[in-house]
Amino acid sequence: MYNSKAYAAASAASPLASTTVSRRDPAGHDVQIEILFCGICHSDLHQVRNEWSSLIPTVYPCVPGHEIVGRVTRVGSSVTGFKPGDLAAVGCLVDSDRTCPECQAGLEQFCPNLTLTYNFPDKHLGGVTYGGYSDSIVVDERFVLHVPSNLDLAGAAPLLCAGITTYSPMRHWGVTKGKKVGVVGLGGLGHMGVKFAHALGAHVVVFTTSPNKMDDALRLGADEVIVSRNAGEMQKHSGSFDFILDAVSAGHDINAYIQLLRRDGNLTLVGAPEIPLPVASFGLLFARRSLSGSLIGGIAETQEMLDFCSAHDITADVEVIPIQKVNEAFDRMLKADVKYRFSIDMASLKSE
Ligand code: NAP
Ligand code: ZN
Repeated sequence: MYNSKAYAAASAASPLASTTVSRRDPAGHDVQIEILFCGICHSDLHQVRNEWSSLIPTVYPCVPGHEIVGRVTRVGSSVTGFKPGDLAAVGCLVDSDRTCPECQAGLEQFCPNLTLTYNFPDKHLGGVTYGGYSDSIVVDERFVLHVPSNLDLAGAAPLLCAGITTYSPMRHWGVTKGKKVGVVGLGGLGHMGVKFAHALGAHVVVFTTSPNKMDDALRLGADEVIVSRNAGEMQKHSGSFDFILDAVSAGHDINAYIQLLRRDGNLTLVGAPEIPLPVASFGLLFARRSLSGSLIGGIAETQEMLDFCSAHDITADVEVIPIQKVNEAFDRMLKADVKYRFSIDMASLKSE
């Protein structure tokens, strides 16, 4: 075991503060990574503040962070895919049982025995796993991704969650050229959704509550932008969408978006608000529309997404911050004041 510097919350009401956590020494198939950048996902805020207590109660201290890129520092004796000096990335998953039908299908995110990167039972050291707001992490190579060398590292970090979470449902639901695709909520996930839908050739419409994001939405790849508080504008698109990705972090009216789907259209929720979202069944009945959810993506698909980003020159638009600004960043995220992902420069942890 060795000590790793980190930022942790001591309780749901505490700010994140400097601490140290224990990491296992890399053995067998383990890869030790010096973390260079870690994105700030709204899920970090939900979990640090124990907003998902009914599903995954938060264990404190909580070290969040699942958008990790860095450099390999040491490898276990059985590692074949990585060597010291390689770029490497870790997302939301650090283990699964590898034998269940979901793992066999490459859908490790649905494995009943998965291990999430933080706030999940740690099979090696006991306690819970600690995430990427830290200078180092040790992960089995099967859950470590290769970072294409042409990607900016600060902007690549958010691909590990915001990227795969928006890429995966778009591939699953057949977003291609000629499809009309909506993206609801221009935050970290939403802005990646816009980039992917545009790169896949769709006609992209952004729904935002923030009129000041309209120009950015167009620059990011949207063909149209609608301020969702304007009911008249929404009505004009009634019954016209093939697919809508809803990436909103708080309670909102999803029925207004279901109405915009055409026959057999699908709305996929990736946002995970603390409160349930009421669904009016008639919106689904008429026109046989469907409502789904989607959770990150499997390991092979995450690598496919990174390679897609390499080929299409896609990274997140990031505001790079030192770790000392993480609490301010959380407050700004709650005000939808992020353009469009915070990425923590982990070199800032050295001074702690
Ligand atoms: P984020 O950067 O904070 O973006 C959320 C966006 O939602 C905001 O920028 C805002 O966009 C919109 N919004 C916020 N409050 C709203 C409200 N009251 N009404 C309407 N719109 C509102 O968050 P994120 O990191 O993208 O994450 C979004 C959600 O996805 C979170 O709940 C997160 O936990 C979840 N998530 C799920 C998965 C998964 O696997 N399914 C993975 C990662 C994250 P506008 O300003 O454009 O309106
Ligand atoms: Zn996330």
